[in-house]
Amino acid sequence: MNILIMGGPGAGKGTMSTRIVKKYHVNHISTGDIFRSEIGMETELGLAAKDYIEKGLLVPDEITNGMVKNYLEHLSDKKSGFLLDGYPRTLDQAVAFDKLSGGTMMAIDIVIAMEIPFEALAERVTGRRLCKDCGAIYHIKSQPSRQEGICDQCGGTLYQRKDDTVESLNVRLDEYTKQTQPVLDFYEAKGLVKHINANQPIEKVWADVASVLNGYSFG
Ligand code: AMP
Repeated sequence: MNILIMGGPGAGKGTMSTRIVKKYHVNHISTGDIFRSEIGMETELGLAAKDYIEKGLLVPDEITNGMVKNYLEHLSDKKSGFLLDGYPRTLDQAVAFDKLSGGTMMAIDIVIAMEIPFEALAERVTGRRLCKDCGAIYHIKSQPSRQEGICDQCGGTLYQRKDDTVESLNVRLDEYTKQTQPVLDFYEAKGLVKHINANQPIEKVWADVASVLNGYSFG
């Protein structure tokens, strides 16, 4: 089972992705996480992507497509399928991925579309904090860690993403509307999209996501 999860910045993709991976044992491919890790390791790919990411702009398609192809080809456990998180994000990426995966084990089976009004996003995004070590996600108001700045799960330090500012959010929202809506339309035309109301408490959103995925077989 191959899943694509889509949603604007702050829609809760990261939180739902963690739960989906844990419950359904699919490989998690988050292009944002991969870029952040490459930037942290100061690789050539990281250096090429850094400026775009810090400004909230999309990394060019040829860099991103090549990176995803490489990750998928090197998955250690191809049989259990994958969760694509943050890719494809432009129509060109969707078409490129369709060419690569159509009719193969890598084709996308279902698209989860996390929907939330734009007004609700600013507070979510500017209050988000992540663990440097394990990647756990917190929110200073709705999901604070027990001790400020420290991860409950592993004791790691929490940090704020450089692009989780209001300025960067506006650019990212604009990119999302212009670039990513056509991707949703592309999968909608294939009949693969399931819409989820992401403007609800986390447990309710998760119940809705799980109820959609429980209708499919994994493994
Ligand atoms: P995310 O963690 O998914 O919000 O991604 C963080 C940033 O990484 C985005 O704002 C983009 O700069 C970059 N990025 C992630 N995925 C892609 C993609 N599929 N295409 C282009 N840029 C991406």
